[in-house]
Amino acid sequence: MPSSPALSYSSYRTYLECPLRWKFLYIDKIPETPRSYFTFGRVVHSVLEELIRPLVVPTARRAGESDSQRTLDDWQPRRRGNEEGPWISREEMLAMYDRAWSSEGYSSPEEEARYRALGRDLLTRYYDRLARERPRPVSVEEHLEARWDGIPIHGYIDRIDRAPLGGLEVLDYKTSRELSAGDAKESDQLSLYQVLVERNYSEPVEGLTLFHLRSLTPIRVPPRGKPALTTLYDRMGVVSDGIRAEAYEPTPGRHCGRCDFRSICPEFRSVPASEETRLRELVDRFDRLRNEEGRIGTELRDTAEELHHVAEELGIHRLPGSQAVAVRRREETWQYSLEGVRPDLEKSGLAGRLPTGRPEEVRRLVRDPSIDPELRRRVAETGARRVKWYWDLEGSSAER
Ligand code: SF4
Repeated sequence: MPSSPALSYSSYRTYLECPLRWKFLYIDKIPETPRSYFTFGRVVHSVLEELIRPLVVPTARRAGESDSQRTLDDWQPRRRGNEEGPWISREEMLAMYDRAWSSEGYSSPEEEARYRALGRDLLTRYYDRLARERPRPVSVEEHLEARWDGIPIHGYIDRIDRAPLGGLEVLDYKTSRELSAGDAKESDQLSLYQVLVERNYSEPVEGLTLFHLRSLTPIRVPPRGKPALTTLYDRMGVVSDGIRAEAYEPTPGRHCGRCDFRSICPEFRSVPASEETRLRELVDRFDRLRNEEGRIGTELRDTAEELHHVAEELGIHRLPGSQAVAVRRREETWQYSLEGVRPDLEKSGLAGRLPTGRPEEVRRLVRDPSIDPELRRRVAETGARRVKWYWDLEGSSAER
């Protein structure tokens, strides 16, 4: 089985949504059509990176995870301006924005102009905010790698800041229209970045932030606890196993609407003209048999029910037909509801004898003479018997 490539957040999310789309992107490396919102986000991110980088003061790291990082040993302080204002002028920043601008992916000159003005506006407001509130970054746009208990992961982290009360804060910029507290609480991206930072830095992560650039609003949430990280780890394990097993089934859904690979996806491939008749006949036959199957199933259940009533009425279990004999059989099961007695079982150190609560376990315990008879009686009384009747045919033509 091939090894799984390192999973980034977007690679993980793509595979979860559609493994075949993941294959087209990450194995076949088929480029997607550029999209305006990605281009816009990339340009704004690159200007923010240049704007914030002079403020970076690196901090201690763990050895051996990412090789691409700067450490305190190779850090050279940059020009940082005075403490009141930013270190480059607003005009310099906007010139940087103009140089970084890309027209890729916009559907019309009007759309491009709208986005371009939006970028100027939010960067200008962000710049003004920096004069009042200076962040304390320890890194910007850093590529981190790690092995998360066997799963290779990586990611580019927009910013890692020193948290107000010590430790580190992971920050991700968002240029999207809307952003809510729920997005920050449920973001798998932030969870994954927390893991990357914790495995690369010596200090703990004390906060996770999605920064909504359009409104300049940071949405801060506490770091994820163990249960949330375990849930994400399990899901990433499923993705990693799927990739190693080369399981690339198409998984159609609403997301197909924005997929660039519909023309090569089997879900959307049309039937060749030479095969149309043959396939139409096959589908029609399948459709007819399915309908018959449903009708026969209903008729079979009704007949068995009628036989059951007659057998009850007459007290007879064998009913002869002209070819076969219908024989009524009984299947008995027991179910125990142990919730009420579990505290006493635990007190007596017996809970371990009923790990699953299956009837065999309960019966063994109830028959054990070394256990208090009163407790055994109470356990036995939690049981309820279920009887299911069904019909067999002896001498049926179906058996011959
Ligand atoms: S069209 Fe839908 S099913 Fe096909 S690859 Fe794209 S997302 Fe997957």
